[in-house]
Amino acid sequence: MSTYDLHEGTVTTILIRGARILGGAPSDILLRDGVVADIGDLAGVRADQTVDADGLIALPGLVDLHTHLREPGREDAETVETGTQAAARGGYTAVHAMANTSPVADTAGVVEQVWRLGQEYGHCDVQPVGAVTSGLGGSQLAELGAMADSAARVRVFSDDGKCVSDAVLMRRALEYVKAFDGVVAQHAQEPRLTEGAQLNEGEVSARLGLIGWPAVAEEAIIARDCLLAAHVGSRLHVCHVSTAGSVEIIRWAKSKGWDVTAEVTPHHLLLTDSCAERSPLGPYNPIYKVNPPLRTAEDVRALREALADGTIDCVATDHAPHPVEDKETEWAAAAMGMIGLETALSVVQEAMVETGLLDWAGVADRMSARPAAIGRLAGHGRPVEPGAPGNLTLFDPSVRQPVDPAAMASKSRNTPYEGLTLPGRVVATFLRGRPTVLEGKLV
Ligand SMILES: [Zn+2]
Repeated sequence: MSTYDLHEGTVTTILIRGARILGGAPSDILLRDGVVADIGDLAGVRADQTVDADGLIALPGLVDLHTHLREPGREDAETVETGTQAAARGGYTAVHAMANTSPVADTAGVVEQVWRLGQEYGHCDVQPVGAVTSGLGGSQLAELGAMADSAARVRVFSDDGKCVSDAVLMRRALEYVKAFDGVVAQHAQEPRLTEGAQLNEGEVSARLGLIGWPAVAEEAIIARDCLLAAHVGSRLHVCHVSTAGSVEIIRWAKSKGWDVTAEVTPHHLLLTDSCAERSPLGPYNPIYKVNPPLRTAEDVRALREALADGTIDCVATDHAPHPVEDKETEWAAAAMGMIGLETALSVVQEAMVETGLLDWAGVADRMSARPAAIGRLAGHGRPVEPGAPGNLTLFDPSVRQPVDPAAMASKSRNTPYEGLTLPGRVVATFLRGRPTVLEGKLV
């Protein structure tokens, strides 16, 4: 590797040697002036810097539709800076920052602030999500139009963390976002059916004596919202689908030709509610407490199949950082959520690639092209080909290593994979032709 100082701005061309694009035959990739300039056998080409990608897979830069960056308001858990560093380390070139900050991202002012911070740090693009209701209060629509027209150009609106449970408000939001090609991303959780809920309602919750979180609380809202979206001819995105029944409803809505998309988190593709009972970390460990809850092995199987057949469009991390004191407490008092940006690709390799359900082209589609399309991010999710923006990830699928929370860039440590051995490692990430990560380290 050359010794050019990347911060001096001297490097304008980078030659990536021998990368397997989407797992195909080795090929060289030339990045120049922010774009993919050439692909093929480029042995005679001179560049400012050369990156040896022997054995590495090249994917388009990953795009996350669902990240909690916590800034403004909970900078003790994560900041735009640390969250985007974690994203870059995970192979991401763009993340959608959820609106449940303090203050809530429900005005043009707040979304522009978050968007600008992302630009300033430059580790990865930050696309703010706007709140659907004012203050996430669930009673009055937020300034959706002003956020759409702002410098942040918001297209995804969500009260994530809370469900827009009022059917009239949900209908109005779906109608409103049509004016600017927006989408309402619903956190599907019927509030009355989940009062005090702690863990998936089933055998495990019964044995542990934890208040159950029934699948129907998610499925009822998804069914209602699919019908509403169809009724007003708008676009619905379903956040973190977690049950086999939800998959059936989304499959039905898509068969009708309705404009419904859905995401699944890495943890719902790998972990089950039995983790709360039996895990290397012991029973009742709140590291496994998450919203929606971990479900059964049968649900995991249905989610994997749905992601493989396209019923579920994409993987979204729901990266939810929490400080130690909010997680290391008794189960009922602990905060819900897990971090996920730095392990997402490895978990997807484990759950989807090693099981033969997806190849690397499929991974690129579900983790880059589809989420970019749903979020209307024109500069992301493009195939790695000449003329495309130089957003890409180099990944080594051949290594297996234990997950080490202490080595993560995120400010929080609440990963459920601690000590677990997962495949794959992000070696490099490029944002518009500039490396944000090289040799696994932040640039
Ligand atoms: Zn959510």
